[in-house]
Amino acid sequence: MDKLSRKTALVTGSSRGIGRATAQRLAAEGALVAVHYATNEDAAQETIELIEKDGGRAFGVRAELGVPGDVHTLFLGLERGLKERTGGTTVDIVVNNAAVTTPTGVQPEDVTPDEFDRLFAVNAKAPFFIVQRALPLLPDGGRIINISSGLTRVANPDQVAYSMTKGAIEQITLHFARHLAPRGITVNSVAPGITNNGGPVFDIPEAVAQMAQLSAFKRVGEAVDVADVVTFLATHEARWITGAFIDASGGTLLG
Ligand code: NDP
Repeated sequence: MDKLSRKTALVTGSSRGIGRATAQRLAAEGALVAVHYATNEDAAQETIELIEKDGGRAFGVRAELGVPGDVHTLFLGLERGLKERTGGTTVDIVVNNAAVTTPTGVQPEDVTPDEFDRLFAVNAKAPFFIVQRALPLLPDGGRIINISSGLTRVANPDQVAYSMTKGAIEQITLHFARHLAPRGITVNSVAPGITNNGGPVFDIPEAVAQMAQLSAFKRVGEAVDVADVVTFLATHEARWITGAFIDASGGTLLG
């Protein structure tokens, strides 16, 4: 369990859910992890404590994405935290995980321009500028992993705007994979299906049973199911995979 020793990682939105599990898994492999969050400081602190309890290293970075100056704020905190702990600002692994969703869905007729803009600001624009800003900090052989969604492969009209943002993040993967290949930096998308992020719906057995039917394995995903895939992509073993769409939906897309 030492595949990422001496590596540093930024996981956006790692105070909870898939991001937290990813931060924990990367740290368990030896990476120093920047636990980014928007507002939920207690949850971010809990992620850090869980990592430290297992002997890992992490620090928190607060920055609300989707507002003016968001990426600048994020990188000020990231670079400060890295410098204090490593003496430098190298970030080996960037995981674009933070996103806003429309949990219950919105009929296409009811999507407002403001809601559309907010989804794109957090889920598509921020990840693009995070990658752009990370470029000088990423060493050759670095890793960028963008969290998409199985919803880019199945039609769900109530999630059209959210799904469009995930289509956009897959385009970041495609084009930056080509752009960064000369430096040995891989860029991939990971697409979860329905995954238990600790949200209230996962406490309702009937709802969970219904959602479980969507996966070929007839259960909802656990955050660590996705985190393990992301962690593999971060390792040296995954060096030959770039520009890929990795289905981490437990067979949901098999139909
Ligand atoms: P959660 O809703 O559990 O957590 C979201 C995380 O993102 C939190 O850490 C939150 O910080 C942070 N965040 C939210 N909005 C902002 C913002 N404006 N600025 C900065 N940080 C923000 O996420 P999930 O674990 O459910 O999802 C993780 C990723 O997986 C997302 O990209 C999502 O689209 C994708 N996905 C999830 C699926 C699922 O079923 N869970 C299915 C398919 C894809 P804070 O705690 O401070 O609010």
